[in-house]
Amino acid sequence: GGGLRGESGTSRDIPDRRWIEEQLAASERRLALALESASLGLWDWHVPSGWVSFDVQWAGMLGLTPDEIEPTLESWESRINPADWPIIRASLEPHLRGETPRYVCEHRLRHKDGHWVWVLASGTVIERDEEGAPLRVVGIHQDISARKSLEERLVQQATSDPLTGLANRRYFDAALGNELARVRRKVGQAAVALLDLDHFKRINDRWGHAAGDEVLKHFTRLVGERLRDSDMFARLGGEEFAILLPGVDLIGAFRTAERLRRAVADSPARGDFGEIPISVSIGVAVLRGGDTGSAEALARADQALYRAKDGGRNRTMMEQDTAEQPFSAALAQTTAQREDGKR
Ligand code: GH3
Ligand code: MG
Ligand code: MG
Repeated sequence: GGGLRGESGTSRDIPDRRWIEEQLAASERRLALALESASLGLWDWHVPSGWVSFDVQWAGMLGLTPDEIEPTLESWESRINPADWPIIRASLEPHLRGETPRYVCEHRLRHKDGHWVWVLASGTVIERDEEGAPLRVVGIHQDISARKSLEERLVQQATSDPLTGLANRRYFDAALGNELARVRRKVGQAAVALLDLDHFKRINDRWGHAAGDEVLKHFTRLVGERLRDSDMFARLGGEEFAILLPGVDLIGAFRTAERLRRAVADSPARGDFGEIPISVSIGVAVLRGGDTGSAEALARADQALYRAKDGGRNRTMMEQDTAEQPFSAALAQTTAQREDGKR
């Protein structure tokens, strides 16, 4: 039989030019509406000349009108966050060489106001010359800032403690595990310090829970200001904190801990409640390649912390191996270990 195609060919009038133009205009309006509602900005790049046309939506995404944007590649390049170049290149270059079906990545563009707009970039080479070199690339930029900030907030919630903003126990354990892996590969050494505020229950009992919270925040600021960027400071729970000290040996960790302990003892918390004197007890231990897990170093630091409490509080103790020896002997031993490591 003739089938549907034949029947429609004969039964329908051939549309006139005006009808086609109306349909095209309607379809363009639908596309514009779709792009707008999905907050998509369109770009069209002529590669040999470096000419790029950006649509109204694209400009609007960055707080600009189209006449404020030069139709050049430079307009895009100059607004890219420099940190995002490696990610852009890793996707764009193989696509331009014809190795991947499309270019897609997430990067930031500077808004007219100066803040960063996160975009999902997606594009395709739609025309190549006889040698296969790209002539024309067309793509979209979608504003994904809202999704990015939600992601950041979720990561923040999952990894940090709400009262102090410090890393939480889960995040700290993960970092400790990574650091132990580095120690095992002999990439470096690392130490861990456990800190527990002294007689914190008494502080709550005397000044109230809200004042206790202020003390925890005060302590966090005090210690945080005295750490390196590479150190990780975490609140493990209650009035218990931990610090991961990468690149530090036992003596180094002891010295850092003592410096922190003295700063805490010298800096009472001040507020509406008046002045609250505080002190902290600290146990330090090193990560050992032979440990089965990062919990072992924590357990050694915890034993040292227990001895610091037992010994009268407001003091630092090193893990058992060396803690029973005088400080000079411990220093000699750690120095010897370091010499061993060099050989
Ligand atoms: P020690 O010197 O032996 O460590 O004595 P401590 O009183 O600090 O030890 P303990 O573990 O008995 O008490 C800890 C107290 O910390 C008990 C609890 O009420 C309080 N605490 C735990 N988390 C918070 C918190 O988020 N805010 C406040 N204000 N207090 C907390
Ligand atoms: Mg305590
Ligand atoms: Mg405690």
